[in-house]
Amino acid sequence: MNDIILKIDHIQKFYGNEGNITKAINDISFDVEKGEFLGIMGASGSGKTTLLNCISTIDTVSSGHIYLDGKDITELNSKSVANFRRENLGFIFQDFNLLDTLTISENIALALSINKVSSKKINPLILDIAKKLNIVEILDKYPYQVSGGQKQRCACARALINNPSLILADEPTGALDSNSSQMLLSTIQSINEQLNSTILMVTHDAFSASYANRILFLRDGKIFTELRRGSDSRSIFFEKILNILTIIGGGRNDAR
Ligand code: ADP
Ligand code: MG
Repeated sequence: MNDIILKIDHIQKFYGNEGNITKAINDISFDVEKGEFLGIMGASGSGKTTLLNCISTIDTVSSGHIYLDGKDITELNSKSVANFRRENLGFIFQDFNLLDTLTISENIALALSINKVSSKKINPLILDIAKKLNIVEILDKYPYQVSGGQKQRCACARALINNPSLILADEPTGALDSNSSQMLLSTIQSINEQLNSTILMVTHDAFSASYANRILFLRDGKIFTELRRGSDSRSIFFEKILNILTIIGGGRNDAR
């Protein structure tokens, strides 16, 4: 049995006030083991983003606890959350957020400089991660000089450079065509398999979700069910995901 890296313990998140309350998360508990690639699915409004935002400390829970590496992150004060996020989490954003005026190398270094890593240590770290993601030859280029796939791998390198305990992605393929989606998902999958990174990916898209090892399906702020890939091929897993989506709603034709 692997180490539990993330423990979600009976969390709730309510918006609004008495009389007009939205239970965005209504008592959710689950554990994530180190090295898991967990997908979170559910129709629009089911609570996916709220759940991810609570885990990433962008939002706060109304009740319950979230433990990352055994530390209760719901107890962090507002001063320490920013540091916590930088030191422990990696984010893969939908639009990749690369800065056009910085080289690929400088874009990756950004996360490290903020973490006050000495400049002598930065270059070997960047080279190491660039080798793993096969972007060594473009390190000195600017984002506009490289392909879409290379930009994606740069964004993944930036998410990984701090060696985060957890990598979070909210609809990472949401703005991509199917070719680019497939490339990004393969990259995320290899990060998971080769580097043993733990990944939490929110998606409404069954194809994206089929790259995960396990999927939690949310409905109305609760966990409706979970699906493990086990030894299924990705296409069989994909069919099983679609079957659950027909029950809970969301999926292929759900634009969000
Ligand atoms: P999903 O990402 O699955 O589409 P969300 O987590 O964004 O769902 O939203 C879950 C529910 O919480 C929805 O009913 C949504 O309207 C509500 N909600 C989300 N954020 C807020 C907010 N800041 N204020 C009020 N209601 C919100
Ligand atoms: Mg959302």
